[in-house]
Amino acid sequence: MTEHTLFRGARVVDPASGRDGTIDVLIEGGTVAAVGGGTERRGATVLDCRGLVLAPGLVDLHAHLRQPGREDKETVETGSRAAAVGGYTAVAAMANTDPVADNAAVIEEVRSLAARAGLCDVFPVGAITKGLGGEEMAEVGEMAQAGVRVFSDDGRCIPSARVLRNALRYARAFDVVIAEHCEDASLSEGAQMHEGLHSSTLGLAGAPAEAEEVAVFRDLALARLTGGRLHLCHLSAAGSVELVRLAKASGLRVTAEVTPHHLAFSDEDLVTYDTNFKVNPPLRTVEDRDALRAAVADGTIDAIATDHAPHAVEEKEAEFDQSPPGTIGLETALAAVLTNLVEPGLISLSRTIEAMSATPATILGAAEHGGPIEPGRPANLVAFDPAADWLVQAPFASRSRNSAFLGKRLRGKVIHTMYRGQLVVADGKAQR
Ligand SMILES: [Zn+2]
Ligand SMILES: [Zn+2]
Repeated sequence: MTEHTLFRGARVVDPASGRDGTIDVLIEGGTVAAVGGGTERRGATVLDCRGLVLAPGLVDLHAHLRQPGREDKETVETGSRAAAVGGYTAVAAMANTDPVADNAAVIEEVRSLAARAGLCDVFPVGAITKGLGGEEMAEVGEMAQAGVRVFSDDGRCIPSARVLRNALRYARAFDVVIAEHCEDASLSEGAQMHEGLHSSTLGLAGAPAEAEEVAVFRDLALARLTGGRLHLCHLSAAGSVELVRLAKASGLRVTAEVTPHHLAFSDEDLVTYDTNFKVNPPLRTVEDRDALRAAVADGTIDAIATDHAPHAVEEKEAEFDQSPPGTIGLETALAAVLTNLVEPGLISLSRTIEAMSATPATILGAAEHGGPIEPGRPANLVAFDPAADWLVQAPFASRSRNSAFLGKRLRGKVIHTMYRGQLVVADGKAQR
């Protein structure tokens, strides 16, 4: 007998269908069977969702799952579990593993690890250049043939404009996306944080916002030159946002993402020398943070992506200048956005789901995710309590605990995550 699950009484927020209202949703096996009418089934498992929001499962364009190579920090399985706990049903796994995902064999390895874990869909990102060396093109055609949709040397910016031009030409030929980590390394070398008032006070070397803006400007110019699809990772500066706004106004097909930590924090937060605030790109000024928030609200920034970057405890406990940049983010992303953008009335719940599910699903080519929640669609869903107040603390489902949100109170908690019709998270707890 096919299993039935009924989400009863939730506010369904589904930008792909334009739906926003209280309505029941029945799941049969791995698919949505009924929305609204005809949702009663004898023997169905009924989930009382009064007070909860039901939305398409979140989709992360940018996570570092560290496998193969650094299984001490994270594995595809632990990263998938962190994703599920955070309400994600699909995650793009960055290519800067060891070995680098610059050929179809590594892509297949990550996929099979994800299938074995069975907690969410993992979309491996392919490297643009061999070994992330920045010079020789990786097996882009081979990986595109294997279904890879997004290519990135993330962790590094492509240093050569000529190589990036080539990559964007490939992107056009294979109908794939080039996702760039925008950083002019000659301006950011040795930087520990954003260059400004606080870096001088703290005595830490800084990188100016221009280190990002210069790269954004170059990349937009090359996207225009080639017609290749460009996606800009983790924007951090108001000037970058302005460049994207102008490019979009002129008709360029470019997309951009921002992280929850850049939306929540600023360089002021580094006064404690807490290495969990050491991230790349660095947290910038309050004005930058506010410009990023406004850009999510007006759509200049298309998507919110975690840049989930797990690191070992001993690495993050090292001296500030020795500690690697990065914060984990999968388990706190939704709450961080609800707390910092929805709660103050900057964006709606519908815009939240659009930026964290529908739009990233489109960019990633994840057709089974992002909604609409309609009969016949795969049952990839999240139910969350937008009012629940909680303290971020270890342990995490992630193998690492380097969270910028550690010790903070956030509003909004994931209650159920359904992946292909299975409740992988129920009542806030991972089921396997
Ligand atoms: Zn990056
Ligand atoms: Zn990254």
